Amino acid sequence: MVLNCRHVWDQISGYLDNTLDAATRADVEEHLAHCEICSAVLDSTRNILILTADDRVFELPLGYSERLHARLTQAILEGPPTDTTSSG
Ligand SMILES: [Zn+2]
Repeated sequence: MVLNCRHVWDQISGYLDNTLDAATRADVEEHLAHCEICSAVLDSTRNILILTADDRVFELPLGYSERLHARLTQAILEGPPTDTTSSG
């Protein structure tokens, strides 16, 4: 199964928590291998988890994730990352 970016975003927390089944995890990893946007999202999310796991509390502004997704969606609409290997 080929995931699009939005599918991957839906799975990222499960991916980081290691709660995905093997097939879904493989699909996510396959997408991450060639998608710069989702790789960036994964890195950002992982960094937030590392920071928050360190007994410190960060308050994210209201609507943070909605704005993040909106920006990513805009980035996707403006043009795909330089990926010439995928045929869709
Ligand atoms: Zn993606």
